[in-house]
Amino acid sequence: MRSGPDASLSAGRRVTGSTAGMGRWASVGLGSLLLAVSIGGIVSSSQVSNGIERAEGAVATTDLYQQAGYFVAIEDAELNSYRITLLPADLTAHSTAEDSLDATLSALAAKADGAGALQVAGLVAAHRRYKDLSQQVVKRIDGGQIFQSSELETDAVEPVRDMLAVHLKKLETSQQSSSARALRVASLNGERLRWGTPIAFALTLVVIVGLSRVTRRHRRAVRYQALHDALTGLPNRMLFADRAAHVMAAARRTGAEPVVMMPDLARFQEVNDTFGQRQGDDLLVQVASRVSALVRAGDTVARLGGDKFALLLADGGSNAGSEAAGRILAALEEPFDLDGTAVGLEASIGIATAASEPSPENAPPDDAAQLMQHADAAMYRAKADRSGYAHYLAGADQRTHGHLALLAQLRQAFDHDELVLHFQPKVAADNGEVLGVEALVRWQHPVRGLLPPIAFIELAESTTPIHRLTTVVVDKALTFVRYRLDQGLPMPVAVNVSARGLLDQAFPAKIAAQLAHHGVPAELLWIEITEGTIMADPDKALAILTELRGMGIRLSVDDFGTGYSSMAYLKVLPVDELKVDRTFVKGMTTDEGDAVLVQSAIDLGHNLGLSVVAEGVEDDETLVALKNLGVDVVQGYFLGRPMAPELLDQWIVDRAIVALPR
Ligand code: C2E
Ligand code: CA
Ligand code: CA
Repeated sequence: MRSGPDASLSAGRRVTGSTAGMGRWASVGLGSLLLAVSIGGIVSSSQVSNGIERAEGAVATTDLYQQAGYFVAIEDAELNSYRITLLPADLTAHSTAEDSLDATLSALAAKADGAGALQVAGLVAAHRRYKDLSQQVVKRIDGGQIFQSSELETDAVEPVRDMLAVHLKKLETSQQSSSARALRVASLNGERLRWGTPIAFALTLVVIVGLSRVTRRHRRAVRYQALHDALTGLPNRMLFADRAAHVMAAARRTGAEPVVMMPDLARFQEVNDTFGQRQGDDLLVQVASRVSALVRAGDTVARLGGDKFALLLADGGSNAGSEAAGRILAALEEPFDLDGTAVGLEASIGIATAASEPSPENAPPDDAAQLMQHADAAMYRAKADRSGYAHYLAGADQRTHGHLALLAQLRQAFDHDELVLHFQPKVAADNGEVLGVEALVRWQHPVRGLLPPIAFIELAESTTPIHRLTTVVVDKALTFVRYRLDQGLPMPVAVNVSARGLLDQAFPAKIAAQLAHHGVPAELLWIEITEGTIMADPDKALAILTELRGMGIRLSVDDFGTGYSSMAYLKVLPVDELKVDRTFVKGMTTDEGDAVLVQSAIDLGHNLGLSVVAEGVEDDETLVALKNLGVDVVQGYFLGRPMAPELLDQWIVDRAIVALPR
């Protein structure tokens, strides 16, 4: 039951495309066939009965001709007999025969049509003549002219009578053969009907069986489509959930330990944005086949939608989960070929096990849906910890549920313009002059109030289109600078840009366009990037930073001391400022180590010709210590908290008043 995008699956898809039409045509075909068979049956049975009727009619006509011939003979016989006997009974019999022949001829006339009718009319006329002549014969007999009567009979009556008899015989014979023909046709039709009916029945049966096959195949194809992902051919969410439910039910009987795993493909969205959707789809298909190849028969790999995949291992517990996760991570790190470009994917995998013997901290999930939820929660933890994979731990998902809800709301935050900037002053250590501000983003959440960046930055960067956050922040920061410029109060502003925002070839051009749009000189924009961002791709970072610096933009290395950028590297970076991380600043008055670190960071910066900023200055004592170490700029709650723009204006005014008496 291994579920890979194999040949049979894609064949299943092909079937689906044509079967809908086939099913329709087959029903139409069957309907027509049944109709044809019934019409054929009706026509042929009516043909048979018509044929029989015709044959019967022909036989009856033959009888009439025979009868007529018989009456002609009687007429003749009775006339001859009367000449000999002179008995009135013979005369009566003669005229009865005459009447009978008339009746028979009119019966024939009623039946005959066309040529037949003409012939009968001829017979009727001949009989009329015959009757006239026999009347004269009778008269001569009654007049005692026996010889003359015989002469008349021989010369006139007999030729007419013979003509009548011969014609009647001829007609009788031809009628006989046509009735025999009609009978043959009728019996042939009867025969046909006898064979035709079972043959038509069998044919219909064959069609019905064929049709039901097609329909069954069609139904199977439709069902297949409903349960599989069209792109990869993998089971979809519905089928996955169904299989998970089955496997869990079976596990409760057998004591197996099914595992659900959810991988997250960290850079997929970026690939999709950069290369385009076709390559994105191509990548998903490659991922599907790689992952499918790594699981055993009986395990399921599914695509739940977008770049979300899921795995179901029928048994094996958390160990099997870890092993499979290791294999999958390794397989995904191998570069994928996208139209000749090698692309690697980093994945984070969440693992949840339906353990047969739950440990105290890990209650077994009640159902498949919960197991999937647990895997999802573990995936977020793996992502946050950058640990590759993580097992579900009870209690860890509280945050994750909030996380998912937040994700949906975050998409709206952009559309509803819920992101705002607060500004924190950067102050000269020696004279307290405000040198600029740092823009720090916040989310004015409709329900939860003002959210700090830590609550949503990573989510925004990893789920919204690339640069969307950076674009919004830069736009708002430049609006602020423009506003200050309009008041005649130029104020440099620093924005924070993450790796995702910075490491894009087009980034400098976008910034240039935004500066131009707001009419802000590049010198008033500072960009803060962390050591980590630079080290993610040093060559690319160097190229982009050089371009930005060339435009006149100032650059800061943020959170200095937390990363591991080498002195050699810092030397070649076109940066203006080092910001010593606040964790060291915070500890410097109590922790000797932190103090040494701050001291060496300041010295290093100065040696490279950079301005050194200390962030997170929370008290007077720290400020004094920093001044003594020769720090250039200070930033922190002690000097000023991040503030909404209107509060910042007020802060600057108040500060000027306080500063005046000094
Ligand atoms: P960061 O760049 O190091 O920003 C300074 C952080 O330290 C701010 O937190 C600020 O409120 C806080 N802070 C300032 N003075 C003090 C102090 O005296 N004591 C203490 N304990 N903290 C102080 P915030 O605003 O929560 O920002 C946190 C981080 O979020 C920032 O660290 C920065 O890395 C990131 N961030 C903020 N805005 C943006 C943005 O627009 N884009 C990106 N990519 N990241 C941002
Ligand atoms: Ca910063
Ligand atoms: Ca910092």
